[in-house]
Amino acid sequence: MKNLFSHSGLIKFSKQFDTKKVPKELIERVYTSRLIGKNKKLVLHGGGNTSVKSTISDIDGERHGVIFVKGSGSDLETIKPEDFPAVKLKPLKKIINKNSITDIEMVNFLKKNLIDTNAPNPSVETLVHSSIEHKFIDHTHSNAILELSNRKNGKILCNKIFGKELLFIPYVMPGFILAKAVKNKIDKSPNIKGLLLYRHGIFTFGKTAEESYKRMIHFVSKAEKFLKKEKKRILKVDNNKPKFQVSEISPLIRGAISDEKKYILNFRSNKKLLETIKLKNINSFLRRGVVTPDHVIRIKPKMLVLNISKRKTLQQVQNYINKEVKKYKKDYSDYFKKYNRNSRKNKILDLIPKIIVVPNLGIFSVGKDYKDSIINGDIGEMAISIIGSIERKANFESIKMKDIFDVEYWSLEQAKIGKDQKPLTGTITIVTGGLGTIGQAISKEFKSNGSEIIILENNKDKIMRFKSSDNFDIHQCDVRKRAQFKRVIDKICMKYGGIDYVISNAGNAIQHEISTISDKNLYESFKTNLFSHQIVASESVKILKAQGIGGCLLFNISKQSVNPGKFFGAYGLPKTALLALCKQYALEYGEFNIRSNGVNADRIISGILSQEMLTKRAKARGVSIDSYLKGNLLKKQVSPSDVAKAFYHLANSEKTTAAVLTVDGGSIESSLR
Ligand code: ZN
Repeated sequence: MKNLFSHSGLIKFSKQFDTKKVPKELIERVYTSRLIGKNKKLVLHGGGNTSVKSTISDIDGERHGVIFVKGSGSDLETIKPEDFPAVKLKPLKKIINKNSITDIEMVNFLKKNLIDTNAPNPSVETLVHSSIEHKFIDHTHSNAILELSNRKNGKILCNKIFGKELLFIPYVMPGFILAKAVKNKIDKSPNIKGLLLYRHGIFTFGKTAEESYKRMIHFVSKAEKFLKKEKKRILKVDNNKPKFQVSEISPLIRGAISDEKKYILNFRSNKKLLETIKLKNINSFLRRGVVTPDHVIRIKPKMLVLNISKRKTLQQVQNYINKEVKKYKKDYSDYFKKYNRNSRKNKILDLIPKIIVVPNLGIFSVGKDYKDSIINGDIGEMAISIIGSIERKANFESIKMKDIFDVEYWSLEQAKIGKDQKPLTGTITIVTGGLGTIGQAISKEFKSNGSEIIILENNKDKIMRFKSSDNFDIHQCDVRKRAQFKRVIDKICMKYGGIDYVISNAGNAIQHEISTISDKNLYESFKTNLFSHQIVASESVKILKAQGIGGCLLFNISKQSVNPGKFFGAYGLPKTALLALCKQYALEYGEFNIRSNGVNADRIISGILSQEMLTKRAKARGVSIDSYLKGNLLKKQVSPSDVAKAFYHLANSEKTTAAVLTVDGGSIESSLR
């Protein structure tokens, strides 16, 4: 493993901080913490922790011996000085002499001894760090160390390689229990340079940040060297490939794991991953547990392996997936009942798998939202890589299921992943014409309510020019072309697992006297304002049906559909047909719990109703622009966000289909009869 430390690098890094405000040793601490965080073979997504002991003054001038320790929830790769809360050391050293304390007592005690009460919560491993006398301490879940210890003779191997340099700590629950175990052993071993936490990770320490970091690299390199020399055994493989595309399979899986609550399902695959997941006995070794306890909150104790290659039709694939997911849920529920005997306070978590492996295809990772699915996927992929390496040499063994359960249901671990849930979290929304004024307002509305947004836009320049902090997933697509739309749908299925809401919004208004308009122009208008909606709706319905978890088509119709305007026939005619199309989908797909609703909006300044068009329309109705815009019963101008709210309302109205909501400030002529 490469040593990334350099004195010049540290000096350069230090320059950005004011040493009067940030102690020098904390700057060094941040510098090497980031070096560790950068290396995915040491820590992943918030894993691992580091600390430094120091003295600082409180505002009353009193000096305190403190430990700056990583705050819970921060990531070593991007950590900042303020992410290291300072906790008074003396009380921490005292509390460790107690026989036991509860989680709540521990969290309270740590909080009570913070120098700044607004600082983040100190890491759950703070007491381990404070029980070790050394100044700088680093803790990682190094892949190489896990590869050595998560096997049958792991203990013998670890002792053989690290001898007396690392103190061996048998597996115990992280937190207070681990801190006590470390404290009891470390006092008797003054010359050690670190700890080997069996089937959990490694600690190193030193007088300087550099020394502790270098020791981490040294021990991990030593493990890597040993692993490289180890003989590999030949394992049997299964080369049968599934007969279906990822985009055909993912809606079936997403449907099987979602119910009231919906999840994002991300697919990934690469050469290295495929080499492991084609091994014949993965169904056994990917169900034996985790490589380090921390992983369980992300990927559960067991992965689900789906052997799809034997299934000849998509219906067979679907039946098989449903059966396997049902089995997984039952198995998880049994695991909960078995190990939860002594506690009544635990509530069972989601029953579904977080990593789903399809041999010779790739893995699907499940998350409450897209970001979550990526984190879980990264951890799942890493775990598969470690387990695969072990299996090629020995048999993978994890800590006991009971120990895994205790960490999974440990309140301090669950606190790390947070529970914030918005009404549309876990759902996927497509917005066509998404960079138009109304499209953007709809996208913002759905995103602020938790949905993943995929914007489809035909105008390349608009895409190039578009800047937003919203981070929308934007695809160039001409929805008048079925093949283009299908390609985007495939990508969406691979990235998110499927779709829930389809806002068919793209449109184009042209004005002309009806008897003199060219056939070509009228036909073009129908293509944009009617047939494109048919393409979007018909392709989307295929996915919604495959998922079998409802969903809603939402059409941006127009009040022109019921109240035609003079010289606006080329726009109004296809919009009238679009209203009928919206109803037709409601009629034919209601039995699949697929809803179809529309919005009739009017007089909203947007790309369609440009200033030029506005002047023309006001003229056609014989009024001023202002009275044209406010020419409604409420005498109020209607904004794009009013339209967006109507779409959101219809998406959320689970018992409403074939409905059209009018958003025009009120007009008797346009009201539905
Ligand atoms: Zn750890």
